[in-house]
Amino acid sequence: MSRFWSPVVQTLTPYVPGEQPQIQRLVKLNTNESPYGPSLKALQAITNSTNEDLRLYPDPEGLALKQAIADLHGLDPKQVFLGNGSDEVLAHVFQGLLKHDDPILFPDITYSFYPVYCKLFGIEYKTVPLNNLFNIQIEDYRISNGGIIFPNPNAPTGSPLERKSIEGLLAHNGNSVIVIDEAYVDYGTESCIPLLRGATCPENLLIVHTLSKSRALAGLRVGFAVGHPALIEGLERVKNSFNSYPLGRLAQTGAIAAIQDQAHLKTTSLKVIQTRERLLKQLQLLGFKTVPSTANFIFTSHPARSGEDLYQSLRKRGIIVRHFNLPRIKDYLRITIGTDQQCDELVSALQDIFKD
Ligand SMILES: *Cc1c(COP(=O)(O)O)cnc(C)c1O
Repeated sequence: MSRFWSPVVQTLTPYVPGEQPQIQRLVKLNTNESPYGPSLKALQAITNSTNEDLRLYPDPEGLALKQAIADLHGLDPKQVFLGNGSDEVLAHVFQGLLKHDDPILFPDITYSFYPVYCKLFGIEYKTVPLNNLFNIQIEDYRISNGGIIFPNPNAPTGSPLERKSIEGLLAHNGNSVIVIDEAYVDYGTESCIPLLRGATCPENLLIVHTLSKSRALAGLRVGFAVGHPALIEGLERVKNSFNSYPLGRLAQTGAIAAIQDQAHLKTTSLKVIQTRERLLKQLQLLGFKTVPSTANFIFTSHPARSGEDLYQSLRKRGIIVRHFNLPRIKDYLRITIGTDQQCDELVSALQDIFKD
């Protein structure tokens, strides 16, 4: 604490990201990174760009990357906004599109960064409870609001919504922006991006993506949003009032090559899906109750052990998972899907824990 902090800073409770341990031996299943490396083409592109051109500022607009994203998704580059990780994109979205008089809506159990942005930008919010099975009840969002945001699939539960449900919500919600955070969409969830193509693009739907999860580039920090050109223009106004160059040269070239390597995305996400289904069965045999997931993580609890106990017991055995000490979910663990071998190590550790 310092008396020189501004009044807002005095009241902040910052987001705490999952641990990045310095010990290499740990089996790290806590921050939903990919267990596989990024596209080799992306690494090659970064290597090729590592030269004296780094003395020059990067393209502030990131036009070549916007074009690559637009080409992949059948959109116009004017429908694409870039940021230094999707967390930065989200920050600009909260400030630029979700800050109105009415409170915004998001689930009671969701990405815990959302309330942090609300506090930082002075945005009122109301949480909408998930049902008992931890699913979003889309009808519950048909109330007046200053905006709506949720991940699809939701985090940390992994439960997906069909595109149809989101279309239904759009039809009832013409007066505020709906933001769908598709951070984990590549592991078996229907994307809403097709709704943005062509002349029927809704004015109030924004979809946020990241290269940190399925593209295995969390260390490069690239995220983007796609939507109606007028929404994107609003975000550009915020970005250009904050930092003109959020993406460096290496991030831009690496991201272009990664976006163009669909084959790598397909093989690695398919492998993660297969490992997820395999792990699910192994956990069932151990008595775990797991929420059906279309993400690269599962959300699970055991009737005989508290979440804190399981978290600590795994940590002692060199395996880190994520535990959220929040009322409705304190007995759950969020486990990132690693390689088959990492998941086998997790299962052996759990067998050992349940032996006692
Ligand atoms: C990981 C994650 C992000 C942030 O990703 P970055 O692009 O690495 O900042 C955003 N939203 C959700 C729901 C996430 O899980």
